[in-house]
Amino acid sequence: MKGPPVNSQRIASSLLLASVLALAGVTRTPQPAAFAAATQPPARSTLRIGMWTLWHDREVLLKPAGPDHKITLRACDRCATLSLSQPVSVHAAGNEITLIVSSKKGNADRLSLTGPVTLTAHGETVTLHNPVTITARAGVLVIAVTLPIESYVERVVASESGTADSRESLQALAIVVRTFALHEPHGHADYDLCDSTHCQLLHWSGNPTRQAAAHAAALATAGETLWFRRQRALAYFNKDCGGRTASLVEIWPRAHEVPYLPSQPDRYCTAGGEKEWASELTRTELTAALASAGVIAPRWQHLTVERRGESGRAVTLRLDAAQVSAESFQLAVGQALGWNRIPSTWFEVSQQGDRFFFHGRGWGHGVGLCQKGAAAMAADGRTAQQILDQYFPGAHSADEATGRAWQSFQGNGFVLESLDASDAAYLPQLARARAEAAQRSGLNAAETFTVRAFASTPAFRDAMLAPGWVAAFTEGNWIATQSLHTLAARHLLDATMLHEFLHALVEREAGPQAPLWLREGLVEVWSQPANRTKTAPTLNLNAVDAMLAHSSTEAESEAAHRAAAWYATRLLDRYGRAKVLEWLRSGIPTGIAAALGQR
Ligand SMILES: [Zn+2]
Ligand SMILES: [Zn+2]
Ligand SMILES: [Zn+2]
Repeated sequence: MKGPPVNSQRIASSLLLASVLALAGVTRTPQPAAFAAATQPPARSTLRIGMWTLWHDREVLLKPAGPDHKITLRACDRCATLSLSQPVSVHAAGNEITLIVSSKKGNADRLSLTGPVTLTAHGETVTLHNPVTITARAGVLVIAVTLPIESYVERVVASESGTADSRESLQALAIVVRTFALHEPHGHADYDLCDSTHCQLLHWSGNPTRQAAAHAAALATAGETLWFRRQRALAYFNKDCGGRTASLVEIWPRAHEVPYLPSQPDRYCTAGGEKEWASELTRTELTAALASAGVIAPRWQHLTVERRGESGRAVTLRLDAAQVSAESFQLAVGQALGWNRIPSTWFEVSQQGDRFFFHGRGWGHGVGLCQKGAAAMAADGRTAQQILDQYFPGAHSADEATGRAWQSFQGNGFVLESLDASDAAYLPQLARARAEAAQRSGLNAAETFTVRAFASTPAFRDAMLAPGWVAAFTEGNWIATQSLHTLAARHLLDATMLHEFLHALVEREAGPQAPLWLREGLVEVWSQPANRTKTAPTLNLNAVDAMLAHSSTEAESEAAHRAAAWYATRLLDRYGRAKVLEWLRSGIPTGIAAALGQR
C-alpha cells in the first residue's frame, strides 16, 4: 500500500461526467452472501461526534465564520431556517437551551446549525463547516458535530499520532481508528463517539504540523477497516505497551475473547531499551481519586495488587478488605489527577506510611496496536499491513462496505489498486495512457504512481469526500478514480487516465509557488490540444484559482478549467515551453502573471 505524499493539493479531474452524475444515486453493487457480515449494520458515511465533552460548558458563543458568512440555524425541527449576521449566545438552562441574540432571549430544546459557524467556549475558538446540533442535559451543553467518517479519521490521526510516526504507521493507525469508530457502540446517548480519550482524542483546532500526514494516511486507507474471517473485527490502540501487549479480556473482563487480540511480546517498542515509569502518590490524593470513581473508604490503610493477568498487568487491587478493578483505579487516578500519574495498569506498588510508590511500564491499556512499536516498525521499513499483522494476528484490512481486500496490480510506471480482480484487464489501457501522458508533456518520471480505483460512485464519493460528478482526482503521485468499468462503459477511461497521469507528472515538477491555474492549465493543454478556445475568459487568474480549489458545481469547475487552459496556452505561446516549465518549478514572476491577466 502506497500513500499520497504529504503537502500535495488535490486536483479534481476536469472530465465532469453528466453520465456519472446520473449514477451518483445508485445503490452499492450487491455482494455475495458469504462476504456480507449479515448481522452488521449497513455501511454509513457520517458519524456524530460529541464536541468539547470534557469541558461541561454551560455557554457557547456562535459567530459567523467570516465577514461574508451568516449563521444558519433552526431552533426546532419544524422551525424556519434563520440567517443571522450577529453573534448568538447559547446557554444551558436545565434540559433546555436559552438563545440570546442582540439582547433578545428565547428558549429551545435543540439548535441545528448548518454551514460554517465559529464556536467559542472556555477560551477556545473553532470554525466548523459541518452540521452541528446543540442541546442541554442537566445544565450542561451537549454539542454534536456530524462529520464524514474520513474527516473524523483524519482529525483523530492528527490528534493521536506522535512525532515518531511515519507513513506506514499512520496508515495502520488510520485503519484502527476507523475500525474502532465503526465496529462497536461507545455508550454515548447523544452522539456516536466523544472527543476525549474515552473514545478517541480529537483536537478541534487541528494540528498544523501533522494535518498533511494524517490526511494522506486517511486518504490512502479510505474505507478500510479490520476484518477477521470475513467478519468485521474489533480494534484498539495504545501509546506504549511496555514490551508486552494485553489481551482483550485482561483489561475488559466482560468482553468476549477474540483470537486476534492476544497478549504477546512486542520487541519493537522495547528495541531502544525498556523504559519504566515511577510515580509517588499520597493517601489523600488516592482517597480523592477513589472517591471520584465511587469507591468510598475513608480510613483505608493498605493498597496491594491482588491478581495479575497474562501480560503481568494488575487486574484487581486490594484496598484493605475490598477489591477494586485495576482498570477503573487507573482511570480514576487519570481523570482526577492526570494521566501521567499512573499511565498503565502494569505496575508494582509499595508503601511508606501515607506515601505510595508506583513503578511500572507502558502507557495506556496495552490492547491492540502499540503506537510506539508501530512507529518503530515503520521506521524499520515495515508496511502498514505488516504492522496490522503484528498487533492483530490473523486479521487483515478490507473494505468496510464489502469485506473485500484491496489488491495491487503492477502496471508499467504505476500500481493499480482495486477491490475487483477483473480490473486487471484495464492494465494495458492504463499503461497506454501513462505512456501517452509522458510523450505529450515531455515530462517523465521513474517514479511509480498509484491508481486507486473505487468500486462504485457512492464508494468513491464517501471514501474520497469528492462530489459524484468528479471522475477522478490526483494528489501528488496518487490518483483516485471512479469505477474503471463505469469509465470504460462511457468511453471515458482513456481520456480520464491521460488527464490524471498528466497531473501526476505536472505535480512532480510543480514547486510550492506554482499556481493551481498553471498546473491545471498545462494538463488541459496537453490532454486536449485540439480543443483550445480562442475567446479570452472573463475570469481573472485569482478567480480561476479560487474556483479550481472550490467549485461547487460541475459548470463552475468546467469554466475554471477552460480559463486555466486559455491562460496556460497564452503563457506557452509567449514564453515557450522551457521557460514555462521553469516557472512551474519556481513560481511565475509577478510582472508576467499581471501582464497575462491584461488584454
Ligand atoms: Zn485536471
Ligand atoms: Zn467516549
Ligand atoms: Zn509495544
